[in-house]
Amino acid sequence: MPESESGIGDKEPRSLRQRPSRAVKVGTCTIGSSAPIAVQSMCATKTANIEATLAQIHLLECAGAHIIRIAVDNQRDVEALQQIRKETAANLVIDLQENFQLARAVAPLVQKLRYNPGHLHHSRHGMSIVDKVKFLVDIAGANSCALRIGVNFGSLDPARKAQGKSREHSAVESALEHCELVERCGFSSYVVSLKSSNPLAVVEINRRFAALRPEVPLHLGVTEAGLPPEGIEKTRSALVPLLAEGIGDTLRVSLTLPDAEKDREVRAAYEIIEDAHTGRVSSAAPSRAPALNVISCPSCSRVENQAFVSLAQHVKEALSDLADKPLTVAVMGCRVNGPGETDEADIGLWCAPGFVNLKRGHELIGRFSYAEVIARMREEAEDVLRKKQAAPEQ
Ligand code: SF4
Repeated sequence: MPESESGIGDKEPRSLRQRPSRAVKVGTCTIGSSAPIAVQSMCATKTANIEATLAQIHLLECAGAHIIRIAVDNQRDVEALQQIRKETAANLVIDLQENFQLARAVAPLVQKLRYNPGHLHHSRHGMSIVDKVKFLVDIAGANSCALRIGVNFGSLDPARKAQGKSREHSAVESALEHCELVERCGFSSYVVSLKSSNPLAVVEINRRFAALRPEVPLHLGVTEAGLPPEGIEKTRSALVPLLAEGIGDTLRVSLTLPDAEKDREVRAAYEIIEDAHTGRVSSAAPSRAPALNVISCPSCSRVENQAFVSLAQHVKEALSDLADKPLTVAVMGCRVNGPGETDEADIGLWCAPGFVNLKRGHELIGRFSYAEVIARMREEAEDVLRKKQAAPEQ
């Protein structure tokens, strides 16, 4: 089903929930229990660019977003957020990524904080994970903020990765561990997300988690789904089956889009909810067939170069004749998630301000200008495919 550009009807997605998740308040929005499925999106603008960020919040709100996420990485972003807060009543969530200590400054300004268990290891090495979680919970509680424990395949807790278990196992175990850590602090106003760029994995890990902790509200999404329309189809293929099973209380469709078109994420989210509701499930089952898979992040304030969206588009175009080939190429906007999120791809590209890092599997091939990298990526792609064809069938 093509993405509609014509609006989203009544903007009140009906809940398909059959399981009793608990209610979590995020400002004027309730996630879980009998509330409608909440639609989320994220600003891709530089947070410090107050005017552009306010315009994007407005765009997303008008499309029907109930909750809008913003990245905050430094004091300049905090100061911008103070101004943004004065100008909008939107339900805002802050993505803390590596800088969990900024929670103290931002929590009074927003309704929800998102932390990634895999990123808590990056700063304050002398502080235990238990104490970092307690720090976040105490701040969230004191400011009536909800929390999201956001686990991603590309940034799993290094201690769990070192155990050598499957990423599916590690992701679910990490989420369960952090639920316990948060609850041990007496806090229950939290949701969990378990995301991967692989729709099959998204279905599996959310089913596993929902079976074990049905009362914890789930935020669904396929991370780095890429450019539309493929990114929408990938997301639909994972989220429609989950929603139809009553799994999922809120969701985000992560698409690589120019800033002015970010509202398409929200419109796609409503269409996916409607597909689940009307039973358009079977045609949306995730595919196991080998095919070209271009993964790209939705970009955010952290993107290192505004050329990122056109870079992703150029990668897709340069590989368009390889659509039926078993090749995965990942394009990421920054150093925060770029190195990790490209590890599992055949070819990875991640942006720096003046050049693009090109990887093959885990190996860094080199740094290339934005103009040069497409031709070099194509050479590497052809070589990967030649080697795959020459390798004996497993
Ligand atoms: S990879 Fe970087 S730029 Fe892209 S969405 Fe993630 S944090 Fe933002």
